[in-house]
Amino acid sequence: MAIGLSPMRFLPRLKDRLLDIIYPPICQSCGTMGFWLCDTCLMTVEEAVLTPEAPEGINGVISCFAYSDPKVRTLTASYKYRSARAFEAAQVTLLTHWVQQNSLPLWAFSESAILIPILSPESRIATRGINHTLRLAQTIKQSFGLPSPIVTLLGRLEHDKHNAELEHEERAQNVAQTFCLLSAVPKHVILIDDVLTTGATLAEAARVLREGGAEQVYAITFARG
Ligand SMILES: [Zn+2]
Repeated sequence: MAIGLSPMRFLPRLKDRLLDIIYPPICQSCGTMGFWLCDTCLMTVEEAVLTPEAPEGINGVISCFAYSDPKVRTLTASYKYRSARAFEAAQVTLLTHWVQQNSLPLWAFSESAILIPILSPESRIATRGINHTLRLAQTIKQSFGLPSPIVTLLGRLEHDKHNAELEHEERAQNVAQTFCLLSAVPKHVILIDDVLTTGATLAEAARVLREGGAEQVYAITFARG
């Protein structure tokens, strides 16, 4: 299923405008009024190490920002705030700046690749009313100017708990057998996720995709723990 612009995007934006009037944005880092993350704080967001080790089964990975920076944690937890869209403009600004400073590898621009967001478990999507990883994939595609379409090819089975609720060692077990394929897999895929921590989620996604026929599996994450 390819993702396009929804004709209903206008209404959520109107709702956001009204909420901005009732609850004016405040910088979540320094308290400046008028922004969810002000320009001064955006300029000091910490970048991740440039050549991180790729998880098992992943040919190459790009992680842009350091999860140890509290501002990055705020940006990747935007669904906790009153609007999941509150931080998208800040994400676009940061990613656009990042790609100007750090050129992307050639694999990111492969026209035969597809971008696959690591979707949240269905129960989480229902709780948030939004799939933040799908929106992040759209933000990354826009900011980096990637040619590939976004395809929700990896489904997620119901039984797994959210990794954030688990201890470190429980995460690898939790992600085992949590993905299913929703359509045919092309040879070249690029996974999109918000945070790379242990790499267990990306490794399991890569395993399922390779079983389905993928030969080159890459990943882009907004942050790295
Ligand atoms: Zn600030």
